[in-house]
Amino acid sequence: MGDPLEVYRRKRDFARTPEPAGEGAGGVGGPLRFVVQRHRASRLHYDLRFEIDGVLVSWAVPKGPTLDPDARRLAMHVEDHPFEYLLFEGVIPSGEYGGGDVIVWDTGTWEPTKTDDPRAAIEGGELHAEVHGKKLRGRLVLLRRGGDQGENAWMLLHKHDDFAASGWDPEDHPRSVLSGRTNDEVKADPHFLWRSDAPAAEAAVSLLPEPLPDQAIDDLMALGKRGTWEVFGRSLKVTGLDKVLFPGDPPVTKRELLAYTARIAPIALPYVEGRTFADDPAALVEAANLGAREWAVPISRADAPREPTYALIDLEPGDRTSWDDLLTLARLHRTALGHLGVTARPKVTGRRGIQIWVPVVAGYSFDDTRTWVETLSETVGQVVPELVSAKADVKQRKGLVRLDGTQNAIDKTLLAPYSPRPDFGAPVSVPLGWDELDDPDLRPGGWTIRTVLDRLEEKGDPFRVLLGAAQELPEIT
Ligand code: MN
Repeated sequence: MGDPLEVYRRKRDFARTPEPAGEGAGGVGGPLRFVVQRHRASRLHYDLRFEIDGVLVSWAVPKGPTLDPDARRLAMHVEDHPFEYLLFEGVIPSGEYGGGDVIVWDTGTWEPTKTDDPRAAIEGGELHAEVHGKKLRGRLVLLRRGGDQGENAWMLLHKHDDFAASGWDPEDHPRSVLSGRTNDEVKADPHFLWRSDAPAAEAAVSLLPEPLPDQAIDDLMALGKRGTWEVFGRSLKVTGLDKVLFPGDPPVTKRELLAYTARIAPIALPYVEGRTFADDPAALVEAANLGAREWAVPISRADAPREPTYALIDLEPGDRTSWDDLLTLARLHRTALGHLGVTARPKVTGRRGIQIWVPVVAGYSFDDTRTWVETLSETVGQVVPELVSAKADVKQRKGLVRLDGTQNAIDKTLLAPYSPRPDFGAPVSVPLGWDELDDPDLRPGGWTIRTVLDRLEEKGDPFRVLLGAAQELPEIT
């Protein structure tokens, strides 16, 4: 028998990586594993993979496996995959083999039945597998068909056993058994990238931000009023560390702001990079060191200053607006955006307002985004005319919420997610999940630089879904 990974290797370009590819790391003993990955490449398909002899023997099933005992599914036998791919969930760069997004749709253990030698069974064209997954249970049978569909064409069926379920459709169960996410959600916020050109053990590259080592914070705390601080690979001369920057209880010093900035920078950076100053986490720390007490950056990137990267819906309360009124408006926008199929997320400003960010593809002008936001808000405003004003002038607004879209302009700025606000206790502008608009405890200034990191630990960053979700703005009718 040839090297089971040979075809896998041939399809990938190892020329750029001299290391040996795929040592057959294999399973770790114990029961054999199987996985089904829902893979949106040039076409949607489900990859059904069984661990055999330390590799993943694989079939691509266009319509997906099913519990329906009357279904007969085409399954194309494809090359073995390295065992390291077993629980891969993320994206494969477009242009590479299998480019697209992948979720772990099901996984568990399996055993071959009717044979002790599954490799030989496959060579013989018939594999019986008892699977114990979260979605798939019972006896699957793979039969080689050949014929018109080519020599790799097999048929996949589920036996009439206790787990069989007539009419069962895999597309009715679209979420990952690992993360609970759909392919769309993974595509919008992939946590891992599969580098097909790298050795299997190094192919899954984390896209999650690297947290700051605790040592860097300890070093900052150990400095006197000034000193040299090593942070994110840079030596920063930091001064006035005990100066009070914000009132608070206790007051917030520059040292505390720098520590917060360094901790949050890897999270906040993707929303502000490529703009004026912040191209790496150290740049954000440096800005704080030079006196920046909040982070406002252009809405466009430096390389295309006339093209906004986000459309902004700015719900700015008037002095007659209650927090409940503002939430009502934010929820109406949520409904409208959901209806339009637009990916967007709200954040509290850290003061009184709520902003909604809508990532857009390149090519729009500020006129385009402003007009779109105004049309949307006008539609929403018609539902609650007693709450809103379209007037930019504060006096003419009569204390109502302003919905005018004028934040979408080349000379306006983005208040970055997780930016501190120069106020009592250093409140923070915090991204929210849409469902949090229904939380009776939600407050616009509810988090500070002292509490927001705990929230992140618990809830993650709701804005990450916006990264990679740049979209065309649908017509509003
Ligand atoms: Mn595939």
